[in-house]
Amino acid sequence: MALTITPIPAFNDNYIWALHQADGQTVVVDPGDAEPVKAWLSANGATLAGILITHHHPDHTGGLDALLAMTSPVPVYGPAGGHIRQINHTVKEGDQLSILDHDFEVLETPGHTLDHIVYFHPGASDTSAPDDGDTADLGNPPWLFCGDTLFAGGCGRIFEGNPAMMYGSLQKLASLPAATQVYCAHEYTLANLAFAASADPDNGDLKQRQVDERNKRDKQHPTLPSTICLEQRTNPFLRCHSPSLQATVEQQVSHKLTSGLELFTALRRLKDQA
Ligand SMILES: [Zn+2]
Repeated sequence: MALTITPIPAFNDNYIWALHQADGQTVVVDPGDAEPVKAWLSANGATLAGILITHHHPDHTGGLDALLAMTSPVPVYGPAGGHIRQINHTVKEGDQLSILDHDFEVLETPGHTLDHIVYFHPGASDTSAPDDGDTADLGNPPWLFCGDTLFAGGCGRIFEGNPAMMYGSLQKLASLPAATQVYCAHEYTLANLAFAASADPDNGDLKQRQVDERNKRDKQHPTLPSTICLEQRTNPFLRCHSPSLQATVEQQVSHKLTSGLELFTALRRLKDQA
């Protein structure tokens, strides 16, 4: 059965992604707050069938108790590490899950937290046939639910890991298929792109993206999902091989940067101070 993916806004700028089937069965990703999820389920006649968790921060897990209290037991997938007691299926790198008849693979992406994981659905291996000609049928493109690791035009802060870990995690995500639709957990895009433009001022794709994303926000539309292809062209944290980005950042930090990791580390520090 086809899956539709809908953002449920929470707090100031979180998105709780709802994956739902026509029969109402719904899996949510990172429910930091139960109330908007309950309201959405009720408005759509939907039933909670499972929960995916990317990491332990409260704005991704705070709704678990209240959601689990209102349903019969459902699978709650998430990282090992002991931070999140509501998880009943701990998963790790390479694990395969079936979510509403769709296959997902777990990738470990330490950096923002040490136990951060993401969920990747490789569209090509999906066997559900488009049965109704509905163009909203998202059965085929790959999907990535990446929590606070990769953002549109940016990346998560490094709270628990180190720059090398985060750089490696982002490179892992950047190597996913270009068409992968990227479902991040926050609407940070315009601020991220403003910072990106200061570090990568000659990037024409980035300038165009600022216009496109501002138009979406003016209409109060989400800027997500993004795609890996768009991030590769416009997200400076995935562009640490770019000579012009390197030259600008070297000027800003007043010293030479001799590797992609050094450029990434300097960029992340500049963004933290922005
Ligand atoms: Zn977080």
